[in-house]
Amino acid sequence: MKITATPFELELRYPFTISKFSRTSTPVMLVRIEHEGFTGYGEASMVPYMGESMETALAFLEKTDLSWVKFPFAFQEITDYLDSLAPGNPNIKAAIDIALHDLRGKIEGKPCYRYFGSDPALMPVTTITIGIDTPEVVIRKVKEAHMARVLKVKIGRDNDRELITTIRSVSDQPIYVDANQGWTDREAALDLIHWLHEQNVVLIEQPMARDDRDSNAWITERSPIAIVGDEAVQRLADVDLAAGVYHGINMKLMKSAGMSEGYQMILRAKELGLKVLIGCMSETSCATLAGAALAPLCDWADLDGPFLTRNNPFEDPEFRDGKWILSEQPGLGLKFRD
Ligand code: MG
Repeated sequence: MKITATPFELELRYPFTISKFSRTSTPVMLVRIEHEGFTGYGEASMVPYMGESMETALAFLEKTDLSWVKFPFAFQEITDYLDSLAPGNPNIKAAIDIALHDLRGKIEGKPCYRYFGSDPALMPVTTITIGIDTPEVVIRKVKEAHMARVLKVKIGRDNDRELITTIRSVSDQPIYVDANQGWTDREAALDLIHWLHEQNVVLIEQPMARDDRDSNAWITERSPIAIVGDEAVQRLADVDLAAGVYHGINMKLMKSAGMSEGYQMILRAKELGLKVLIGCMSETSCATLAGAALAPLCDWADLDGPFLTRNNPFEDPEFRDGKWILSEQPGLGLKFRD
């Protein structure tokens, strides 16, 4: 089994600003795994704040030896093996796991979503993120996102109300809000949450610092809007810690080390009565389709990578009525652009 990795700089349509920083592109690592004439594709999106880079991803791949892997793939054993090489690097581990799922689907002639029992009829609408910007640019972005049935906004700065008011001047679509740990005063946060509720905001990610379980739980108990843990929930073991602190979790393949563990996180969250938002990083169609294969199992979807980037090497997945359409092609259904 042969792995090939290709570094790629994924350019963003607009500079991306959240409460702590701004950037114009995201390094991604495209991974191909070949096995008996079939090729599976995976992707690691290496957003800087996660600590993965081209160098760390390549160093991890240097250590990785999949010569022992036989078909049918034992995904848990593979995850355990990858974790034994290094405890971190969830992004490049996700790329390997996604490529193996694509490969499995191609070998067996089945679309990936069927391996998880996903029902395409239950696909949730996906957000399109409106990045923080001047009011003029925000209005332009909202108009460009006319195909979205729900918008997402990164807040956690002093002008949160102004940003939402600007969006509301041109759109009445529901909004998911991401505070990215940007709020520091829980009483003030709760006041703002009540105001956001009146603005048809239906979900809030990570209101306060991930380690401040007390304040996040205090807000969750009082909030009229669903509170979702993102930075606080990385891998499977974190799901149990989210119970009682949040209404739901944000599962992202780049945090969960891929589809195998992401699926287990969804199942565990449901057992605990937690809702699930499936999220993404700046990603090509590859990781987006991997996320979409699991999305029908989730309550909400935030899989907007292809909308926010401009040099996706793959064709955009089909998008209709605010939802990704799952491909019936074997594997992820990925197509290279001509
Ligand atoms: Mg988030």
